[in-house]
Amino acid sequence: MPIIKEVKPGSLAEELELVPGDEILKINGIDIKDIVDVQFALADELINIELRRQNGELWELEVEKDYDEGLGVEWEHPTVDKVHLCHNKCIFCFVDQIPGQMRKTLNVRDDDYRLSFLHGNFVTLTNLKEGELERIVRLKMSPLNISVHTTNPQLRVRMLANKKSGEILNQIAYLAEHGIEMNTQIVLCPEWNDGDELDRTIRDLYPFYPAVKTLSVVPVGLTKHRRGLHKLRGCTPEEAKRVVEQVHAWHEFLRPKLRTSFVHAADEFYVMAGLTVPSSDYYDDFSQIENGVGVIRTFLDEIDEAFPKAPKQLQTSRRKVGIITSVSAEQTIRNSLRRLDDVHGLHYEVFPIVNHFYGNNVSVAGLLTGTDITSQLAGKVAHLDTLLLPDIMLKDDEDICLDDYRVEDIQKALDVKVTVVPATGMGLLYGTLGYTQSLPPRRRYEATLKNAVGLD
Ligand code: SF4
Repeated sequence: MPIIKEVKPGSLAEELELVPGDEILKINGIDIKDIVDVQFALADELINIELRRQNGELWELEVEKDYDEGLGVEWEHPTVDKVHLCHNKCIFCFVDQIPGQMRKTLNVRDDDYRLSFLHGNFVTLTNLKEGELERIVRLKMSPLNISVHTTNPQLRVRMLANKKSGEILNQIAYLAEHGIEMNTQIVLCPEWNDGDELDRTIRDLYPFYPAVKTLSVVPVGLTKHRRGLHKLRGCTPEEAKRVVEQVHAWHEFLRPKLRTSFVHAADEFYVMAGLTVPSSDYYDDFSQIENGVGVIRTFLDEIDEAFPKAPKQLQTSRRKVGIITSVSAEQTIRNSLRRLDDVHGLHYEVFPIVNHFYGNNVSVAGLLTGTDITSQLAGKVAHLDTLLLPDIMLKDDEDICLDDYRVEDIQKALDVKVTVVPATGMGLLYGTLGYTQSLPPRRRYEATLKNAVGLD
């Protein structure tokens, strides 16, 4: 049962004198199994809560509240009971390709529809127990993020190595019929679910719009740690270009019908193919930005918006700054920084870091490690006033890289001050000019990272 970890000031929970350690047993007579039950049960104006205090005392409280008012607490665990683990053995699973010593959260094979609803994780729906599809509908767990990969039942069974995975279209049809909104994704593996299979999947899914709101096509993420795993390869630049063209052709067909793009190719395809990303209209409401769809466009637009308002001089009279970036973002960063070329006293250097840890095929910033940063920049940055490190390379709210390198370890190893900045256009602009105090606080990236690497 859900246990309270923290009570937010001014919240309903504070008014009720709930405290950390309180265990919620029932709300309005309904047994509470997990946080989704709490959310559902709270959708009422008169609430009766039965709880157990840490000392074992049983309490019963009653309160009148606004219909949509939550308790205002943090919970001990993201779902309360055990997280549902996946029953698949996907040919492209990123977890299989993570070296053993990496951060634990990346090694968890969760496939839990509750985490999809609560935190936006992608799920395959292949491990649902009897009655759980109905529970999703009953508790109105909408929207959900669903990893489809292919609608061809036989192919999905092979790709997910799970005999139960061929049911996805029926599951989607059921959820759509009962008003559940879904964002879907395809992890594209060349010679598996590309070409005609990709067309088939798009053709099967778009009739479910608006229940199936979006479909993203993301490239398979392959590290060098694939010994004993399926033989898979990433897209060539020509194949990446074909994917972009294929998706654009669908876009042109669907836009007049649906008044939305519906299907989007991830930014990585544009980078691989050397193509410019489309304008923001193409991305509609950027529903799948956490999945690497529209990140570059957002970044460029942010730069365009922030630049006219940004100071046109340095905070100090001279500034030598280094910018750490990924191989895939290098060109975007260099192009964006050109508009600072006239700033008097500014000297900047861009350092794309090759991912030796996971292998050169992995080129996104979120998977760079302290080991690669320090080994590749040794002896090259000590002359700088500061080195900008995008926060997407760090664990949420902590100064720790994927391989447990701390920011202070990087500073010490490279003999330079490291400044963490948001991985946004504004972060780049203000960080380079030295106005880091004007930047917004860091955001949460954990779910983004897991989605961005095609973990599910
Ligand atoms: S990719 Fe996701 S669903 Fe597939 S095996 Fe890995 S953790 Fe499970």
